[in-house]
Amino acid sequence: MSLTIVTKKKFVVAEGASRPALLLDWYDRHRRRLPWRAAAGERADPYRVWLSEIMLQQTGVKTVGPYFAKFLARWPDVAALGRASLDDVLRMWAGLGYYSRARNLHACAVAVLRDHGGIFPDTEEGLRQLPGIGPYTAKAIAAIAFDIRTMPVDGNIERVVSRLYAVEEPLPQTKPLIGELASTLLGPSRAGDSAQALMDLGSSICTPKKPACALCPLNDDCAARSRGDQETFPRKAPKRAGTLRRGAAFIVRRGDELLVRTRAEKGLLGGMTEVPGSAWLAGQDDKMALNQAPELNGVTCWHRKTGVITHVFTHFPLELVIYTADVATRTRAPEGMRWVPIATLADEALPNVMRKAIAHGLDI
Ligand code: SF4
Repeated sequence: MSLTIVTKKKFVVAEGASRPALLLDWYDRHRRRLPWRAAAGERADPYRVWLSEIMLQQTGVKTVGPYFAKFLARWPDVAALGRASLDDVLRMWAGLGYYSRARNLHACAVAVLRDHGGIFPDTEEGLRQLPGIGPYTAKAIAAIAFDIRTMPVDGNIERVVSRLYAVEEPLPQTKPLIGELASTLLGPSRAGDSAQALMDLGSSICTPKKPACALCPLNDDCAARSRGDQETFPRKAPKRAGTLRRGAAFIVRRGDELLVRTRAEKGLLGGMTEVPGSAWLAGQDDKMALNQAPELNGVTCWHRKTGVITHVFTHFPLELVIYTADVATRTRAPEGMRWVPIATLADEALPNVMRKAIAHGLDI
């Protein structure tokens, strides 16, 4: 049997009817023992599931373990936590970081106690109404604590699914498609176990580097494995370049010499040689940049070269307007600057962006 999922391009998926069963079978034999997990065959406690899911946001299992135990010992149910003071909750949370989680945790417990009699709502929609519970957490609680047939997709599941189906579209755009594909791994029941099975598989077998495909219950039917390029999934969109910064560079000649200075030791291009220039700022216009020209005897106007030079740093692209001027032979260099023979520029510690600026300004 095959299932066709239509997205931007037609995506044909061999459903592999036995995948959910294979996955659950593997989970029954290899499930991780985690303090917030119910024993096999038992229904999970929504309070424990919720508490662990909030603590696990941006934090690893090992770090969360002792905090989970402390919270549970002090506040054994959501009603007890809802009656606690925020100060006490924050104190207990200290060291776990991302303190907005603790505030939301407390607000959520208060809301469950006040509006739901101390019992978590048992629907995804109801859970979503509570403070600090987003779409992923609502799905996780719904599936794990209430066995609602829904699939929460965390980073581990994204990786497994993108490999299983060799999803070429990059994250994050492909999240909805991965969500649909992950749902095909749900069996008719045990939704929470299916989700936790995929989480465990991603954490212990289908790891980012060197996945242990030989041990994977889905290895017979994994598209990326059959191609041999598992580690290249999930595809990720290139990081967006930072905001464009703009500035000006001033190429000043004194005969066969050029005016330069040394950049501050600390910071970008620290200690390197540059021609005088303006600050590099987002949204800076030409006039603002030109106002930062060095003060030089005899220079009353600057010649603007046509075009700009561009350079891409790791965190931002830069666009520089180049201005030129010639000064008389005995013109002194402003404080902090010096004249160097153009013929010996190659001996200077000039970064590429300055090489480009000088080449443009000197027409070389
Ligand atoms: S076969 Fe390998 S790449 Fe494919 S899902 Fe299993 S562990 Fe991941």
